[in-house]
Amino acid sequence: MAVTDPEIIIRLTKTLPKALTAGLGFVRHRLAIFIIALIAVMGASTLVAFFVSRDDQAQLRDYIWTTRDIRMLQFALLDTQSGVSGVVLSGSQSTAFATFVRGMSELNAVDAGVFQVVDDHAFHSGGGGQTPHPVTDRVNTLRDAWATAVMLGMDHQQAAAQAVLDKAHTAQVMTELQMIMRSYLGYRSDKVDAEWDRIAEGEALVLLINLLGAMIAIAATSFAFASSRREAKGREAAISASLLARREVETLFGMTEILQSAASSEDAYAVLRATALDLLGDFGGALYVFNNSRDRLDFATEWGPSAADTPPLHIAPDSCWALKRGKPHLNGRGEQALRCAHTDCSSIAFEIPIVARGEIHGLLVLRGDGLRDAETLKRIQPIAIALADAMSLALSNIVLRERLRNQALRDPLTSLYNRRFLEEMLERLTTDAERRRAPVAAIMMDLDHFKNLNDRYGHAAGDLALRDTASVVLASLRPADIACRYGGEELAILLPDTTLDVAMARAEQIRVAISATTSNGITVTASFGVASMPENCSRASELLPTADKALYRAKDEGRDRVVGAPLRPSAEILQLTHAGWNLDGKRAGD
Ligand code: GH3
Ligand code: MG
Ligand code: MG
Repeated sequence: MAVTDPEIIIRLTKTLPKALTAGLGFVRHRLAIFIIALIAVMGASTLVAFFVSRDDQAQLRDYIWTTRDIRMLQFALLDTQSGVSGVVLSGSQSTAFATFVRGMSELNAVDAGVFQVVDDHAFHSGGGGQTPHPVTDRVNTLRDAWATAVMLGMDHQQAAAQAVLDKAHTAQVMTELQMIMRSYLGYRSDKVDAEWDRIAEGEALVLLINLLGAMIAIAATSFAFASSRREAKGREAAISASLLARREVETLFGMTEILQSAASSEDAYAVLRATALDLLGDFGGALYVFNNSRDRLDFATEWGPSAADTPPLHIAPDSCWALKRGKPHLNGRGEQALRCAHTDCSSIAFEIPIVARGEIHGLLVLRGDGLRDAETLKRIQPIAIALADAMSLALSNIVLRERLRNQALRDPLTSLYNRRFLEEMLERLTTDAERRRAPVAAIMMDLDHFKNLNDRYGHAAGDLALRDTASVVLASLRPADIACRYGGEELAILLPDTTLDVAMARAEQIRVAISATTSNGITVTASFGVASMPENCSRASELLPTADKALYRAKDEGRDRVVGAPLRPSAEILQLTHAGWNLDGKRAGD
């Protein structure tokens, strides 16, 4: 029967913040690409720095070795020159000669490549305009001159030796060589400085890249950690929200199922109260339903924390925005809020019309007081609407069932029960009466000369007189008595726990009341036949025919009167009293 709105169920179960997750996913994706790119750049830069630095260091080593060789060359030349000078000039031959020999052997030990390197440098820095081997040539000149001079000096020909030296301009060549080598050493020194600078810069760059990488890695790790914590929290919140939504949906389905077994409005109200307290326990609420004439809503039930003010007993449909619009309405707090006339400004109230099969059956009101309640009220609106939905079909079914039952049991003109219902009740009442040994009375009544009334005043006037008569009858009876339209202008009344005398007195009371009533200026009278079981008959099936016979007698005797059925023989009555039947004439409920 009742199924809650699937849209609401879907809304309730969709609690995962998808946009947030998608946003985080996008950021993480970008971040991952960035980190991989960063690691690649760091690796590449470290490799490049390694190779560059290795080349630079090899170059540097080369410079250092060459410089050392040149210094050796310088020392060798100086040693040789001083040995030669000693041999040629000073005459201390043995020491000077030893110096010369050592210098020459040092000179010979100098790597030939060094000459080449210095030659190349001197040639190119000199603009390429002089000899291509300025150093090699000069050293060879010196070597030759020095060897000849030393041989002459050793032979004690000092003058000739000096002449050889002068002729070869050894002093000048030596100076030139020194200048060339100094120039080369200066050049090399600049190169070494530049290499050191390059190496230092490279190291600084690698250090910077590594530092930067480390900082970014720390930042990325912190971000990843924070975002995974955020995600875990979000997942946790989503799981608990979806568990809550699932429980709510289960409760609503449970309510819908139980409502199917609700036989009356009271049953349905009890189910609503229990479900509302379970799902929306923080909020008090009330249910209003339309009255039969549908001109106002009557208070039906309430639950939860009671409102500061007593809820109104009735609500006029035109004083309620939810009913006027046919949509849920939130009555906010304060003067500025759009509020229904039936609410007061101090509290907030969420009102949902209960609609089923295109008809409004009632109004569900949820109340809140605090500021927190205003927020929570907004959050719980979907579940409150689902609750009203579930309730609406149940209410509509109960109203429908009531209508159908009334149509089957009641006479539409007089609203008295119909004959079928009376016959059912007669069997039930008499069975119960026999079990309890209590009497049951029946009154059959028939309006007098009703045909004449119709003929004279018309059928509508007759209908009105019939309706008024029915009202007079109902006003004279106890709730336990059952009055029905037996057929045409004939009514029958069953009176449980009633003896003949009491039933006759009640019939007389009704007769007087009817003859004292005028409908549109018309007065009717009625004749009554009364019987009671077991005083007038012994079986339930005989009760109505016995009363009917008494009614015939009343008609025969002149109408507008009450006639009781003849009593059974006194011996039988006595026997009944002895058997425990209570026939003392007192009636419960009078
Ligand atoms: P009596 O005193 O002998 O009972 O006379 P009577 O005219 O009442 O009895 P009779 O059985 O001849 O006529 C019954 C009349 O009641 C006939 C019928 O038109 C009228 N009647 C029966 N049901 C209705 C009804 O629902 N509305 C109206 N207006 N008249 C009805
Ligand atoms: Mg009749
Ligand atoms: Mg009649």
